[in-house]
Amino acid sequence: MQISIVGAGAMGSLFGGLLAESGNEVTLIDVNDAHIGAIRAKGLRLATDSGDRQVTALKALRPEEAADLPDLLLVFTKTLHTSAALSGVRHLIGPGVHVLSLQNGLGNVEKIAEFASPERILIGVTTWPADMVGPGHVHSHGKGVVRLMAADGVDRPFVAEVSEVLTRAGLDCTSDGTVWAAIWEKVAFNAALNSICAVSGCTVDELGKVPDGSRLANDVVTEVLSVALRMGIDVDPAKCRANVASAIAQHIGHKPSMLQDILAGRRTEVESINGAVVAAAGRLSIKLPVTETLLSLVRLAEVRAIA
Ligand code: NAD
Repeated sequence: MQISIVGAGAMGSLFGGLLAESGNEVTLIDVNDAHIGAIRAKGLRLATDSGDRQVTALKALRPEEAADLPDLLLVFTKTLHTSAALSGVRHLIGPGVHVLSLQNGLGNVEKIAEFASPERILIGVTTWPADMVGPGHVHSHGKGVVRLMAADGVDRPFVAEVSEVLTRAGLDCTSDGTVWAAIWEKVAFNAALNSICAVSGCTVDELGKVPDGSRLANDVVTEVLSVALRMGIDVDPAKCRANVASAIAQHIGHKPSMLQDILAGRRTEVESINGAVVAAAGRLSIKLPVTETLLSLVRLAEVRAIA
């Protein structure tokens, strides 16, 4: 499959590297010149549980340099950059191109729908982890899965094809119609751990040091998933609270991406996580006091961070 990945940071590079290694024609597209330059010079250094190697069978381009229309365009920017990134590769989104988002948060389909017709949009969620080590160098340790579906819920052959291509690359993908529940459960998990850590400065395990951390996290999960349940999405709040408790017990020293962004002086993905949930709740006249307060506090932390 010809696959272009726009937003080739930690996740885009991990997926791009594995998809290239399994025989697909991969183009990484990014605006980070140091990263693109390093990959062009020496290939992508990919460190996973399968080894630390250099992947050279892929292209790395800036958006304006990319010309070949892919079969699949995978979007892996942070959600606050999705619209700008898709604008930059608008010339690649021909009528036969499918666009897939595995980004965190809500609102990804709506953003892509400004560039691609609804039947060409795939949506999903992934539990694979990845970090940028430096330009041209990404690592990912542990295991994950991908779940995806057509955004309009219609089961077309291309969805199964993409799922197979990802699985052959070792990314363990399944496609079924229940992906929205997984997306909302991940949003609840992230709304809890990311925003509390971002405003408190605590690592995930430090939330367990006083009862307030776990209580706040549970309140957020309950609030977020109450919105999903009202929308008729079959989420499992008890399972999600158990996942949050196990992260607090096990993710020793882990700084969630929202905390990393605040510490690095960057804006966060809070608008597509807490922000999008609060907006959805507002449309249903549901109040989410804890999630909304955390949203306000992260916005204030961003003001300080980017000053
Ligand atoms: P990242 O910051 O490492 O990568 C994003 C990339 O997008 C960067 O290389 C950046 O230069 C690029 N970019 C920004 N604006 C662009 C533009 N206009 N055109 C082209 N490229 C542009 O982020 P990440 O950690 O890979 O996360 C990507 C998405 O995946 C996020 O939504 C994140 O929440 C989600 N996610 C991340 C992980 C993880 O472990 N890192 C796991 C699951 C989901």
